Amino acid sequence: MPHILITNDDGVHSPGLLALAQALRELGQVSILAPDRNWSVTGHNKTLDRPLRVWSVSLADGTQALTTDGGPSDSVALAAMGVVAEPIHLVASGINTRPNLGDDITYSGTVAAAMEAAIFGIPAIAVSQEEGDPRYWETAGRAARLIARKILENGGIPRGTLLNVNVPNLPWEHIRGFQVTRLGQRRYHDELVVRHDPGGRPYYWIGGGPPTSILEPGTDVHALAHGYISVTPLSLDMTHDTFLDVLRGWFAPLGERP
Ligand code: MN
Repeated sequence: MPHILITNDDGVHSPGLLALAQALRELGQVSILAPDRNWSVTGHNKTLDRPLRVWSVSLADGTQALTTDGGPSDSVALAAMGVVAEPIHLVASGINTRPNLGDDITYSGTVAAAMEAAIFGIPAIAVSQEEGDPRYWETAGRAARLIARKILENGGIPRGTLLNVNVPNLPWEHIRGFQVTRLGQRRYHDELVVRHDPGGRPYYWIGGGPPTSILEPGTDVHALAHGYISVTPLSLDMTHDTFLDVLRGWFAPLGERP
């Protein structure tokens, strides 16, 4: 029976995590180890400057979970290195309360947890859902279960890779299907807000509205905007293969020594 580790970056008590655990329980044994608080938009971290604590909590439906004062990727590392005794066959991170599309993945704690699993050689999926009210967590749970089953049936995914999944916030009957996509582009509308404290010293907020998507066919942003579940294979190897040779050309005249 497969053993699946569930984590997230919204905190162990997030309803999205519980929905993911409930959905994946049908596939095998589920263990949960997730941060005790919200770590959204913290990227890929490793806590080295302080000890990490792990303790048990009960989730809303009575499910037992482990939680830590470390981050999402710490949670995966702790579990993989023995805090969870049994070998882990799949890591599922989410369900995040917002989508993780295009460059979002570099900020995302949800994706970082899946990246950490990939470093440990464990197949992983990061699952995120569009915002909305009401929330159709069951749709994202069902999508995650189908994708997790595919991974287990196919004997995993290539080492050093993970799947980034984004799910529309729609009832299952309204989902148009699955699309395998590449990363798209989002435009961020960050603006620097400068204020002054009572002592007259400036402080800064990075403000601005949510990013908008550039809707190019074949991308994750396009699929999600059109009612599809987007599945993007990501590689930890961020080398830009086509630029590699150009860059070698730049440095060839300098020889091997700088
Ligand atoms: Mn989050």
